[in-house]
Amino acid sequence: MSLTLLFAAGPGTAEEYHAPLGEALRAAGLEARIVTEAAPEEVDYILYAPASPLQDFTPYTRTKAVLSLWAGVERIVSNPTLTQPLARMVDPSLTRGMVEYVCGHVLRYHLGMDAHIQAAPGDWRPVEPPLAPERRVAVMGLGALGRACAEALRDFGFSVSGWSANPKEIAGVTCHHGPDGLNSLLRGTEILVTLLPHTKATESIVNAETLAALPRGACLINPGRGALIDDDALLAALEDGQIGHATLDVFRAEPLPADHPYWHHPRVTVTPHIAATTRAASASRALAENIARVEAGLPLLHEVPRARGY
Ligand code: NAP
Repeated sequence: MSLTLLFAAGPGTAEEYHAPLGEALRAAGLEARIVTEAAPEEVDYILYAPASPLQDFTPYTRTKAVLSLWAGVERIVSNPTLTQPLARMVDPSLTRGMVEYVCGHVLRYHLGMDAHIQAAPGDWRPVEPPLAPERRVAVMGLGALGRACAEALRDFGFSVSGWSANPKEIAGVTCHHGPDGLNSLLRGTEILVTLLPHTKATESIVNAETLAALPRGACLINPGRGALIDDDALLAALEDGQIGHATLDVFRAEPLPADHPYWHHPRVTVTPHIAATTRAASASRALAENIARVEAGLPLLHEVPRARGY
């Protein structure tokens, strides 16, 4: 029997996915039609991104799961009409993209690259950076993305710590958890990477108090979500030298408004939410695998517990 998959995402996304998703579904042994419009009672699965106008899931009575094209689900998870199971995107290409972004920006800070790139001709001031094992890097959030980043940084030789809600054991990474573990994590961190989801508990978790707990001059890399940061507190910490530099990929308002102080701050690097993008070919394989599991009576992968919010 042929399945009906409703593609509910921003303009152009369905076209981008049509060929790779068709191929991935065939490879998974599934017969399906991919549509952008359908009678709700005919839809078996919804492939979803927040730019979609679809906000009322009530009429989708036959739908077995809503599969998010995004890893971050904060814009759909609390939708009261969504009673169907929700899965978030976990995909090897997304993870690899994040690992590359995080490692690149950590290395920039670790090696002090800016000093050389911006040096005036004749400015010969050799400064020896510490080697990676002497550099203390921490990752807040040890999920699909944070864990992969912590492991890659560990493999590079950095002294790596991590923080999560629940206890974790990761070889070669010092793991802290819960509110009590946060201060111990921050105290020893020279480069802080924030890869937490946006939830009530993580809103403005990077604030005046947490920034003050870091060693003076520490650097921040935020590819998680803009709302993790209290922007006024970060700007004050940058002004005061408590934070040496920040690289920010995500913001409370996106695109970042033209008059936002981050754009012109000499110690802020803005990247336009490109740390890790969902790539259609590999994401299609992840979607097809998850649909095939449900059709075979297996549990959905990466299902989001609604009360937890991530
Ligand atoms: P994930 O697998 O759900 O992992 C989330 C991690 O955060 C888990 O380790 C979780 O702890 C931890 N956490 C959540 N709430 C916490 C709290 N209150 N205190 C301490 N730790 C907490 O998510 P992911 O796939 O790694 O993605 C992380 C985020 O990256 C996404 O939510 C999204 O916002 C962002 N993202 C950004 C981009 C980009 O291009 N910039 C791309 C993709 C994703 P437990 O493990 O104990 O549950």
